[in-house]
Amino acid sequence: MPPFQSVCLDDFPSPGDPRAPADTHRRAAFYGSIACAATAWPFAGTLWRTALPCRRRPHGQACTGRLVVVRSEVPPEIRWSCPACGDGGVIRAFEHSPWDLGVVEIPADRDPARLDVPLAPLDLAVLRAIDRLERPERRTVMTALDRGSEVVLWGPPEALWRLLEAVRAEARLAGRRRRLALERVAAAIEAALLRVA
Ligand SMILES: [Zn+2]
Repeated sequence: MPPFQSVCLDDFPSPGDPRAPADTHRRAAFYGSIACAATAWPFAGTLWRTALPCRRRPHGQACTGRLVVVRSEVPPEIRWSCPACGDGGVIRAFEHSPWDLGVVEIPADRDPARLDVPLAPLDLAVLRAIDRLERPERRTVMTALDRGSEVVLWGPPEALWRLLEAVRAEARLAGRRRRLALERVAAAIEAALLRVA
C-alpha cells in the first residue's frame, strides 16, 4: 500500500511560479485539485466520491479509482483516499491558498434544487482543464460526482446555465479537437437544462 501522505499546501509554490521545478508543480496540481474539490463541496464532514482520477499507476497501468474526500472544519483539514489502490493522505493549510474555492455551505438537511448532467470522465477532464473559469463555475466542475462508468455534474439550473455559457465561450477559442469535446459537454448540459425548462 502506498504511504499515507501529509502535506501543507502553503509549502507549495503558486501555479505558474517559474522558480519551482516541474515535478513540484505537478504535485501541487494534484493536491491542489483535491483541495479545489473539497473546498467547493458544500457539505463539511460528509464523505463524497469525487470525479477526480487517481494518479497512481500500479503495475504500469493507470489506477481506475476515483478519489474519495472529506473536509473537516475543526481542525481544517482534508482527508482523501483512492478506494481502488489505497493511496491517500491528509491536506492542511489549504485555506486562502490558490486552490481554496471558498466554501459555500449548505446545511446537509437542505438539498438545493438540483439538476444532474451525466458526462464521460474524459469530457469532465476537458472542463477541469479550462483555466479561465470563474470561481462559481469552477465550483460546479470540481464538485462533479463519481457514478462508476460516468461522472455527474450537478447544481441548480442557474449555475449550470452559467457554466454552459463559459463552456461555449471556451469552445470558440479552442482548437478543433478540444472544441469538439467542449461542444459535446455544452450539448449535454443544454439537454439537461431544456428537459426541465
Ligand atoms: Zn488508486
